Amino acid sequence: MDRRLTSLGEKVVGGSDITGDEASFICGLQGDDVYDLFYWANKIRLKFLGDEVSCCSLVSAKQGKCSEDCSFCAQSARFDTAVEEFPLIGEDALKDALGNTAKAGAGSLGIVTSGRELSDEEVERLCAGVSRINGANGANGAKNGVHVHGSLGLLSAKTARRLKESGVRRINHNLETSENFFPRLCTSHSYGDRVRTIRLAREAGLEVCSGGIFGVGETPEDRVDLAFTLKELDVDTVPLNFLNPIPGTPLADVEPLNPIEILRIIALFRFIMPAKEIKVAGGREKNLGDMQSWIFYAGANSIIVGGYLTTKGRPPEEDFGMISDLGLRVKR
Ligand code: SF4
Repeated sequence: MDRRLTSLGEKVVGGSDITGDEASFICGLQGDDVYDLFYWANKIRLKFLGDEVSCCSLVSAKQGKCSEDCSFCAQSARFDTAVEEFPLIGEDALKDALGNTAKAGAGSLGIVTSGRELSDEEVERLCAGVSRINGANGANGAKNGVHVHGSLGLLSAKTARRLKESGVRRINHNLETSENFFPRLCTSHSYGDRVRTIRLAREAGLEVCSGGIFGVGETPEDRVDLAFTLKELDVDTVPLNFLNPIPGTPLADVEPLNPIEILRIIALFRFIMPAKEIKVAGGREKNLGDMQSWIFYAGANSIIVGGYLTTKGRPPEEDFGMISDLGLRVKR
């Protein structure tokens, strides 16, 4: 095994951080050394997070017609995609989604809406519904063992506070990539807008889930920059999405990343953020195929089950079977 990799693995297992140069070294590993990288990523995951896997599911609560131009997204009104469009769903549909999540055995439901931000009226309607469904009067309770999370676009301080009061526990807001590469993915809002939303969510007492998308033309340096930015922001969960090219979007014809490259990205994030929840999100089934069980060996400890917003996943039972076959446990 490469001696520098061994000493980096020992360093992280021992509780120390790696530097940017060391992260770049990880990005450059080739051949069998990549499998040794997974060996260490797995050891780091076990040391800091044990054998539990967090599973969450999503509900698309408002879809399409988005004013923004994120080049990977099926929901931008600027691209000619075949996505079904609908306005904010009502309380009954939310209740059903929460019930289905509990039945499937996932620990949280992410309510996801398209658009730059919700209107005040939409925030109020959503929060009133969440408060009633949670039945906890804003105490962040988890009826049925399912926590409510939200991915609701850019937030103001007032909206963040209202979401917290309603019982939303965590906000997802991805940075997507490095600050440098971001304008190549999106020009209708800025990286700073996204960082601000993360800070406001944190200030309101919400947990933060923020990660990125890979296979969109970014370089290894962009991946390292994103990981260190998220580390500095001290986010709680880091979802990693892998491009599933959508016909009609500017990235429709991009070549997918190969499975080993995807696993290497997961391992890189595990080395940089040893104790954080690293969640493999969109594109898992499509890009990893038979290799998806390797994500845990590469350092992940969390997945999305039951499909994504505009693309399908696989039945949750198959994912729970995979977790149990690997000797891991679903976190309840
Ligand atoms: S990622 Fe969000 S903000 Fe960007 S186009 Fe899609 S729905 Fe709109």
